[in-house]
Amino acid sequence: MTKNRQHRPTFAQIDLNALADNFTSVKAFIGDSVKYLAVVKANAYGHGAVECSRVLAGLGVDWLGVAIVEEAIELRNAGITLPILILGSFWPGQEPELLEHDLTPVIFRLDQATLLEHAASKLSVTHPYHLKIDTGMGRLGVRPEDVEIFARKLAQFTHIRLAGVMTHFAAADDLEQGDFTDHQKTSLYTALEVLRRHGHSPDLVDLANSPASIAYPETRGNMVRLGGVLYGLGGDVLPKGIPTPELKPVTSLFSEISHLKSVDPGDTIGYGRSFTAERKSLIASIPIGYADGYSRRLSNVGAVIVNDRYAPIIGKISMDWTIIDVTDIPGVEIGSKVVLIGKSDNCAILAEDLAGIVNTISYEITCGIGSRVERRYKDVLGDQLDLIRRD
Ligand SMILES: *Cc1c(COP(=O)(O)O)cnc(C)c1O
Repeated sequence: MTKNRQHRPTFAQIDLNALADNFTSVKAFIGDSVKYLAVVKANAYGHGAVECSRVLAGLGVDWLGVAIVEEAIELRNAGITLPILILGSFWPGQEPELLEHDLTPVIFRLDQATLLEHAASKLSVTHPYHLKIDTGMGRLGVRPEDVEIFARKLAQFTHIRLAGVMTHFAAADDLEQGDFTDHQKTSLYTALEVLRRHGHSPDLVDLANSPASIAYPETRGNMVRLGGVLYGLGGDVLPKGIPTPELKPVTSLFSEISHLKSVDPGDTIGYGRSFTAERKSLIASIPIGYADGYSRRLSNVGAVIVNDRYAPIIGKISMDWTIIDVTDIPGVEIGSKVVLIGKSDNCAILAEDLAGIVNTISYEITCGIGSRVERRYKDVLGDQLDLIRRD
């Protein structure tokens, strides 16, 4: 990285080679008999939706999945032409955008079907949708006992077509709850039968997220919906003790030491004075804080890597700054590189490690990296550190 940067030296490095390798690895594990939907919602779990989608499209992914219509339009505006499934459906008034941008919504209420039917009939087209069945997640979807009535009513619409049926697993990451996962799968296929009896002929049947598609091959239907594993975040969402594909982290988070000082025994550090120096210490300030998604819950318990050593975080992480103790690390100076997520020769900090400390999952760590943090992309075409900037 050039030293004369004109802005804050805090950035996330997105390794698009690792993303590509993860997809290839997962596809080799699962095989060619299913289609692949890559979930790129929430800015591809913080990794950059447009950049990741381009790479995945180039690798032959069949579908993309996003949570909301706005995310899909961003992809269309970037020139991405793959089929896009809107996992979280749409809000009234967004139907014209679905048609205009050729987006397939998931629906789970009849009023959504009615809105889509009206919009499609105005343009004299037939628009596809996928129906979500709530087989046990308890979140979105038609309850199994209501499928019959939906099947009948949906069959009356003439400008929309049920092109896919899906469900979402609640606990596929936990093998001890395998019976529940199995029950969810059975319930989905029962719903599918009911829909078929009423004349629907969905082409796509998709159930499995990352853990299900790895741990429960029988849940793969004819398409899997993969998020976490593509971003190398398998460590805390895939069950332990089963064969899994090899995955690589995609995100690293870097900064630099911006300020160095000595403090005396008894001096206190940061808001609330939660840390007191017990010895003469060399402390360093890093320009990243909780506004960047670097959790305040790492205060006094987390660590970073400087010069291939772990440096503990001292005091409360504030909105824009984090303070570390570098007393025991030789050669530290202003501009020394700081690894917040990533590895050096002998040290490593994974998103999963931070997640463990703050009691969440790695997905929340990468999703949470703030928009103020520049994303720099390692080009997928070569190993050279050829960084393509967003736009
Ligand atoms: C987010 C999401 C996924 C992807 O889940 P991963 O665990 O990241 O693979 C799949 N399906 C639906 C409906 C989702 O909302």
